[in-house]
Amino acid sequence: MFKLLKSAFSKVADVLKSKKESIEKPEVIKAPPLEESKQEIKPKVEIEESVPINKAPPIHKEKEIVSAPSFKTKLKSLFSEKIYLSENDLKDIKEKFEIVLLQSDFSVEILDSILDNFIAKLKSGIEKKKNMDAEIKEKFLETLFELVTLDKNILFSTQSKPAKILFVGPNGCGKTTTIAKLARMIIDNKKSVVMAAGDTFRAASIEQLKEHANNLKVPIIAGNYGSDPTSIAFDAVTFAKNKNIDYVLIDTAGRQETNPSLMNELKKMKRVINPDMVIYVAESIAGQAVVNQVKEFEKEIGVNAFIITKADVDTKGGTAFSLNIYFKKPILFLGTGQGYNDLVLFEKDNIGNLFE
Ligand code: GDP
Repeated sequence: MFKLLKSAFSKVADVLKSKKESIEKPEVIKAPPLEESKQEIKPKVEIEESVPINKAPPIHKEKEIVSAPSFKTKLKSLFSEKIYLSENDLKDIKEKFEIVLLQSDFSVEILDSILDNFIAKLKSGIEKKKNMDAEIKEKFLETLFELVTLDKNILFSTQSKPAKILFVGPNGCGKTTTIAKLARMIIDNKKSVVMAAGDTFRAASIEQLKEHANNLKVPIIAGNYGSDPTSIAFDAVTFAKNKNIDYVLIDTAGRQETNPSLMNELKKMKRVINPDMVIYVAESIAGQAVVNQVKEFEKEIGVNAFIITKADVDTKGGTAFSLNIYFKKPILFLGTGQGYNDLVLFEKDNIGNLFE
């Protein structure tokens, strides 16, 4: 998973490796020829980059991707345990990472905060002794985790009984499947659950949820296609109250944020049911557009947390990080397949491994 970022780590590692070599083998500074040394002694000027002053670079030569470190930077690096990078190197690294993050579907809206923090970490130097790849990865993950919002207990720490959870998101994003996976998790945690087949719009959605309920042996409240989803959700909440059930998981029809009638239906559901939590289910493959899609849901009904499905299909990871960092709301789980157990927590240990 997240393979593109892995390639970013190794690209930057290559840059740094060449840097390390150039620092470990400093240029031999030759004494000037005698006639030159007789010449007028010019004041010493500190030059940031080691481009010879008199020699303009040949026009045909392509601009080197990485400039040589400045003399000052080299000296600092030579006597320390760390490699210090010049402004130009940091700029190169930033540009490289920017491209890879965009290719990995990170939203432009969060790029600056990630990159600025990452570069600030690199500025403090790279340990010479450490493995370059590993250290860059560590610094990048450190940066991400300083920005990421983690709250894995939000679902299971709710005090409400029943806890009413509303699942929203576009058609086909995996709401129904995720409800089934969560129902399984709730049962495994020795809690009780009822499902509400609130997607009365998409053909076969009711049968699909009924089949899951049947497989998992949990109750389900369903109506007919075209019937009012709010009344189905209301019946499920009443059922849960009467039977002392812990969780009501409410499915809804897939909505595009641009569809006003479906969005109004959701607003009505929110008003009547007053859910304890609204979970936006997004596909990993939603890409950069996802932030804008969610903005509308956030404005109209409010979103408390995310679940990112199909993380097994998409290897980029940008959708999850974009939503989390932009909205500062937790990603509860990543869906990693079509089976009932294919749900993993979005937490440091899991995500760290995802970059392997
Ligand atoms: P809904 O319209 O939002 O209710 O979406 P569904 O739950 O019907 O899911 C649409 C398709 O995505 C189905 O074929 C699911 O099996 C599949 N799906 C859902 N979650 C995952 C996941 O995490 N990984 C994979 N590979 N497929 C998934």
